[in-house]
Amino acid sequence: MTKHIFVTGGVVSSLGKGLTSASIGTILERRGLRVRMQKLDPYINVDPGTMSPFQHGEVYVLDDGAETDLDLGHYERFTNSPLSRESNYTSGRIYLKVIQKEREGKYLGKTVQVVPHITDEIKAAVLGLASPDVDVVITELGGTVGDIEGLPFLEAIRQIPLDIGRQNCLFVHLTLVPYLKAARELKTKPTQHSVQQLREIGIQPDILIVRTERPLGRENADKIALFCNVEKHAVIEEQDKEFSIYEVPVGLIQYGLDKLILDRLNLPSGPLNMDDWEELVRRIKNPQHEVTIAVVGKYIEHRDAYKSIYEALDHAGIAHSTRVIIKRIEAEQLERQDAASALAGVDGLLVPGGFGHRGIEGKIQAVRFARENKLPYFGICLGMQVAVIEYARHVLGLAEANSTEFDTESSDPVICLLEDQRTINEKGGTMRLGAQPCVLKEGSLLAKSYKASEISERHRHRYEFNPEYRSRFTDAGMSLSGLSPNGTLVEAIELPTHPWFVAVQFHPEFKSKPNLTHPLFDGFIAAALKRRQSRV
Ligand code: GLN
Repeated sequence: MTKHIFVTGGVVSSLGKGLTSASIGTILERRGLRVRMQKLDPYINVDPGTMSPFQHGEVYVLDDGAETDLDLGHYERFTNSPLSRESNYTSGRIYLKVIQKEREGKYLGKTVQVVPHITDEIKAAVLGLASPDVDVVITELGGTVGDIEGLPFLEAIRQIPLDIGRQNCLFVHLTLVPYLKAARELKTKPTQHSVQQLREIGIQPDILIVRTERPLGRENADKIALFCNVEKHAVIEEQDKEFSIYEVPVGLIQYGLDKLILDRLNLPSGPLNMDDWEELVRRIKNPQHEVTIAVVGKYIEHRDAYKSIYEALDHAGIAHSTRVIIKRIEAEQLERQDAASALAGVDGLLVPGGFGHRGIEGKIQAVRFARENKLPYFGICLGMQVAVIEYARHVLGLAEANSTEFDTESSDPVICLLEDQRTINEKGGTMRLGAQPCVLKEGSLLAKSYKASEISERHRHRYEFNPEYRSRFTDAGMSLSGLSPNGTLVEAIELPTHPWFVAVQFHPEFKSKPNLTHPLFDGFIAAALKRRQSRV
C-alpha cells in the first residue's frame, strides 16, 4: 500500500519547503523506494501560468504542458518522480472542478460546501497518485500554517488518515528557529506557536524539521520536542548550507531522517546509497576553475525568476569542476550603458525567456556584442527571438526588423504569431506548451552536443520565427539547426562561424539535473571556459 507524507510549513514563508520535500524524496529513493512528488498551492489562480515572475518566480513547465510551481523543478532535479498535471493543484483548480461539477448537476441538489466537497476533491487529488508501483507519495502544502486560504487543504490532509489509516500517513512540519542577536539566543517560541496552530486544526506532526542559522543544540531540540509533543529524535535540524542546495539531503541523513521515516511508515528498508550524491557535493565544494556568465533579463532582481537556468548553469559547472559566477544584468540598463562595458570580463552571455517590450533593445545590444566579439552566446526562447531580430537588423540590413509582440507595425516581422495563435484570446494555458519533438541538422553543433538527430524539449511561447524570412537568414550564414519534424517551425539556430552561438525556442533548463547535465549547458560552459582560458 502506498504511504503518504505531508510536508507543511510554519512561522515564515521561503523556508525552503520545496527543497526539503525534494530532499526527502532523494533520500527515500536512495533507500530503494519509488516516490511520487506533489505540490498543493492555496492561491486562487488555476495555475501559475498567468502570474508575473515578479510575483511568483519562474513558471516550471512539464512534458505534458502543465505550467506549474517552481518547486516542481526541485522535485525533478532531486528525484526521479515522474511529474504531470496531477503533480500540482491550486485552490483555483480544485474550485473550478467543483464548480464545473455543480453546473453539470453532479451534486444532485445538495448544498455544495468547503467540507466535504472541496476537501473531497483535494483528497482525490492526493490519493490519486497512489498506485501499486508507488511506495511513497510526498505532498507539499504551499503557504504557511495559519494562512486563511490554506485551511481547506489542511482540513483535507487531516481527514486522509481517517480514510487510509494513521499508520500510513506521516506529517512533517518545517519551521524556523530564529537567532535573536540582542538576546544572543535561538528562539523556539515561533515553532511552538506554529505547531500549536497545526494541532488546533487536528494535525499532530510526527517530525519537525527546524531551519536554523546556528546549531540548534540538544537543549533547544528537547524543549521543542516537549512543547510540540513530538519525540526527541524526531526534531531534525536543518542548518543553512554554505555551498549549495544539493547539500540538503546529505544533512538530513546525518540526523537520521531516512531511518526515522522508514520506521514510522513501516517501509521496507533497502541499504542507503548516497555515493553519487556525496561525490556531487564534493565536486561542488572543490571547483578547479571559474567562469563568469552574464544573464541579461527583465526579471533579474527576482531571485527565483530564472531558477532553472541558474541551476542548469551550476550543473554544467559541476560537470566541468567549475564555479559558475553569474553576473545579473538588468536588460534596461543596457539601453543606457554600452554593452561592451557591461559585458567586460564575462566569459559567456545568456539571454533567458521573457515577455513584453521592456528591456528588449538592451538584450539586442548584448547579443550584438556577443556575436561580433565571438563571446559564447546561449539564447533561450525570447533569447532566440532577440538573436533573430539582431541578425536581421545588423547582418541582413533590415533596420526595422522586430517581433510583432513588441511592434505590431514592424515592416519586417521576423518573429510573429503563426495561424494557430492568432485567434486565441484567453491567456491561461493557451501558449505552445510542453514537450515537442525537434529534428537536428546533421553535423550541427546541436546534433553534436546532443549526440542525437531527434530530441524532445519543452516549450512555452506564442511567437515563432517567421517562415517567410528563412532563406534570407540561411543565405547570410545562419544555420537553422533545429526544426519541427514537418519542417515548418524553426526551433533552434546557430552561427557556424562563431565559436559558440546557439539559440533555441525551447527551454532546455527544465531538463537539466545535477548529476545529468544538459548537453547544451554543458557545451556553453565548456565554450565559456575556453574563452576564459584564452583571455587569462
Ligand atoms: N514572449 C515570447 C513568446 O511568447 C517568448 C516567450 C518565452 O521566452 N518564454 O513567444
